[in-house]
Amino acid sequence: MIAYLDPQQNQTPNPPSVAGDGPGIGTETEPSITTASSDFGGIIHAVPAAVIHPKSVTDVASAIRLAGTQHLSVAARGNGHSISGQSLSDGGLVLNMRSLDAKMELVTLPNGRYCADVSGGALWEEVLEWCVKNYNMAPLSWTDYLGLTVGGTLSNGGVSGQAFRHGPQVANVVQMEVVTGDGECRVCSPVDSSDLFYALLGGFGQFGIITRAHIPLQPAPRMVRWIRVVYDKFEEYTADAERLATRTGPDMFDYVEGFAFVNSSDPVNGWPTVPFPSGPSFDAGLIPVGSGPVLYCLEVAVHYNYQRNDKVDEKVDDMLRPLNNIRGLEFIVDVSYVDFLSRVKHVEKEARANGSWESPHPWLNLFIASSDILDFDRHVFKHILKHGIGGPMLVYPMLRRKWDRRMSVALPESEIFYLVALLRFPRPYPEGPPIDEVLAQNHEIVNCCRSNGYDFKLYLPRYETKSDWAEHFGDGWSRFVRRKADYDPMAILAPGQKIFSRAA
Ligand code: FAD
Repeated sequence: MIAYLDPQQNQTPNPPSVAGDGPGIGTETEPSITTASSDFGGIIHAVPAAVIHPKSVTDVASAIRLAGTQHLSVAARGNGHSISGQSLSDGGLVLNMRSLDAKMELVTLPNGRYCADVSGGALWEEVLEWCVKNYNMAPLSWTDYLGLTVGGTLSNGGVSGQAFRHGPQVANVVQMEVVTGDGECRVCSPVDSSDLFYALLGGFGQFGIITRAHIPLQPAPRMVRWIRVVYDKFEEYTADAERLATRTGPDMFDYVEGFAFVNSSDPVNGWPTVPFPSGPSFDAGLIPVGSGPVLYCLEVAVHYNYQRNDKVDEKVDDMLRPLNNIRGLEFIVDVSYVDFLSRVKHVEKEARANGSWESPHPWLNLFIASSDILDFDRHVFKHILKHGIGGPMLVYPMLRRKWDRRMSVALPESEIFYLVALLRFPRPYPEGPPIDEVLAQNHEIVNCCRSNGYDFKLYLPRYETKSDWAEHFGDGWSRFVRRKADYDPMAILAPGQKIFSRAA
């Protein structure tokens, strides 16, 4: 039986026990508890007392108030795509945000721009489909993979190849409805309750549960020209990537990303990961003699509409000409805008088919200052990871000025910094390496960043101790602590992040 939190019942002075099977807060079927005990990372497990399936903001508020009286913690679970137990609640409540009312509406702002008013539990792929189908519009900033929830990525950052231009997803929201840790429902924006608004952005769910969000839209282009070019020298790769990311005016790409790959024929880590399926294959004979163990692929894209004034061929030729990539190793494909944004879907299908979607994912995500990225390449890509990781090794730049300093997110100080995402898809042991070995390699990489004094931060972090969290936030720590006291004084929310302890 899937039961729903009944707000009427929870207004009674003696709410039913969370673990009981009386009316009101629902007891759960075993699969629901089982699913909520783990996440995509598959490394940390914690069994909640109950999983609640709220339909409305009132249900969310009732659950939080109930948890307040029962000395329980509450974790919002978006789509459970965290890596290190961030959406778990050991012995507490898990709110399945996917069960919230999924209705979406178009909103016109006073400046005439449009927004989508969407549920915090909506997947980005659902937002894309609704916006394009109904209005031929779309949000500006995305994640690579769209099976993530709006509330989940707004609580973290939400980055992809549009971030250099439009900012991350946390810079592309203009209003949120939220239930704070005291059970109050509030609406916040950059002008109303602005401290709460910025606290929530990258706030790891510590200050409130986002139930709705207004996401600005732009006209959706019809087509995308998607291009990959290859480099053997990392300094040339980063120089081009940074030039593209900082360029202004009409010659900007709409998307700039990139990845490191192994200089070998390895089908998972090497040359075959670069070409598009329907296009030419990788001619390894073009790689300069003496190239290192790792090569780099810059991935860019331009939107267009099949209109005469698009001049996409000319425009792309002009934009590619100054790049210092290896000539002859260019891969180009034209796809629809929706197919481009849904490009990781086929990776999911393949991974599900070979079992690597369900096995543990010891991923590591870092933001590293541009000033340290060459050294990082020398120590990490060319040395520690020279044989690859069994999945993509993303490395691409973004700009500090696109992130508002009032947000909770902790970033390197440098104006240009790189996302390094080690998206490991190891085959289950013993076919693949033992997970402890992979986790040890992640530690080695983080230690390398620390011991070399890099200006870096973990993205999607999870620390065990308060002092590690304080170090992570640096100057922003006292603000983070003050916001917790203001919006969740009993520390009810997001226990899986292990930042604060539930008040007795
Ligand atoms: P969950 O993992 O369920 O929750 C994450 C945290 O947010 C938890 O602490 C939870 O309590 C809290 N939370 C969830 N919903 C809410 C809410 N409504 N209100 C308040 N707090 C909430 N990230 C990128 O930036 N770019 C990418 O391209 C990208 N690609 C990914 C691809 C895959 C295959 C996977 C598994 C992850 C990827 N991520 C990416 C990481 C992703 O942003 C995080 O996993 C993020 O947590 C969102 O996942 P989720 O919606 O399932 O949230």
